[in-house]
Amino acid sequence: MKNELDRFYRIANKWIEAEEHTPISPPVKAENAVEELGLALNDSPISDEEFEQILTGLVLASPKTTSKKFFNLLFGGRTEKSAVADMLVSLMNNTMHTYKASGPMVSVEHEIIRSLRPIIGYDTDAWGTMAEGGSMAIFMAMLMARDHHDQEIKREGVNKKYTLYTSEESHYSIPKNAAFMGVGREQVRFIPTLAGKMRVDVLEEKIKEDLEAGHSPFLVVGTAGTTVLGAFDPFEEIAGVAKKYGIWFHIDGAYCGTVMFSSKYRHLINGVEESDSFNFNGHKMLSTPTTCSVILTKHKKQLYQTFDNAASYLYQTDMEDLNLGKISLQCGRRNNALKLWALWKSVGTEGLGKIVEHHYESAAAARNYIHSNSDYKLFSYEPSVNVCFTYKDIPADELCNRLYAAGHSLVSFGIIKGQTFVRFVTVNGSASEEDVLQFFKGLEEFVEKEYALSPSA
Ligand SMILES: *Cc1c(COP(=O)(O)O)cnc(C)c1O
Repeated sequence: MKNELDRFYRIANKWIEAEEHTPISPPVKAENAVEELGLALNDSPISDEEFEQILTGLVLASPKTTSKKFFNLLFGGRTEKSAVADMLVSLMNNTMHTYKASGPMVSVEHEIIRSLRPIIGYDTDAWGTMAEGGSMAIFMAMLMARDHHDQEIKREGVNKKYTLYTSEESHYSIPKNAAFMGVGREQVRFIPTLAGKMRVDVLEEKIKEDLEAGHSPFLVVGTAGTTVLGAFDPFEEIAGVAKKYGIWFHIDGAYCGTVMFSSKYRHLINGVEESDSFNFNGHKMLSTPTTCSVILTKHKKQLYQTFDNAASYLYQTDMEDLNLGKISLQCGRRNNALKLWALWKSVGTEGLGKIVEHHYESAAAARNYIHSNSDYKLFSYEPSVNVCFTYKDIPADELCNRLYAAGHSLVSFGIIKGQTFVRFVTVNGSASEEDVLQFFKGLEEFVEKEYALSPSA
């Protein structure tokens, strides 16, 4: 293993250097990748030298989400201590489904869950676990909501129309999960938004309509940080409606739920303590490696009722809480707790809050810049870490593609109500406020130079 660790060091160092000198890897066409990079699998072994050369080439040709020019997705940059912790996880390869196989790593996850409870405002009946991504965390919440509505569904299957409610700007995994769980995509009611926020008056109307039609409303999902606008639904009002009709209330905080760590931005999720379940991702705003997703619920009992399959052959030791497989969708389970713990332990809860605040301050600086220059039009609202804009009315999709092809920056576009705009995301943990402002300067220079030569199509 020592030799391989030396090899790892060599490749990793090249990557770290490349983040500086080539922050945007030149795009590789998918149809050429196997040939160009020597990826074809072979019958015979190859030498270690050749292996290292090919692996290095492959690594360096891959997109650098960890560089400070990556503003494309809802994550970017790197939390160094989390990255190292996650490398150790690969080295140790514990599996989290039993205490026997992962020992004190279970305590690491438990410590995270216990520490989150008072931050969210849940009491000691609340519990939670880590899931393989935000979409899966939401799926787990949806399953708990379904079973909570009718504990027989688990045995009998779905035999009525179970309806659920979420805003038209919520995450696409919600209708997908509705299909997985036998409820069906058609039973998802997409509630219209105003300035990115769910319209609670329409929510209540739709619930009433469904009740009158004899359906069974069982779940409403609010969003803390929508994917395009970074908006927050009005959770206190939604909680009121959910309570009135006896419906499970889940908050999808995959993107911006981490505002809970900041005393300055915690107010954006006021009402979260009224929810039945809540999920967030460490791999978005906190820049831990993917995946790092937590699902919490106020109803520990429901967590066990939905996910425990009483697999007695597996769980032969320790108290039931220590065997995390009892509350997992899968059997073998990667240790996703250590990377979050490593960050939290090193910077403290205050440090987590500061990371969040830095992103919001960068976004505010970007918005100020946009307001000061009439060539820009702003489409997102305050406060949000997504700065959505157009520049000189250039079609945003085309602009993004040209910026990428030229190795300028990686940024994507969004569409809301027919309007296309650049969605510039300020959650890159490696980018300073200056890097963020530099993006705009660079964009203007790029347009001036490139669009003079070849104007918009
Ligand atoms: C990213 C995101 C998800 C999905 O999380 P994954 O970890 O990518 O599965 C869900 N909801 C929102 C609002 C998100 O931004």
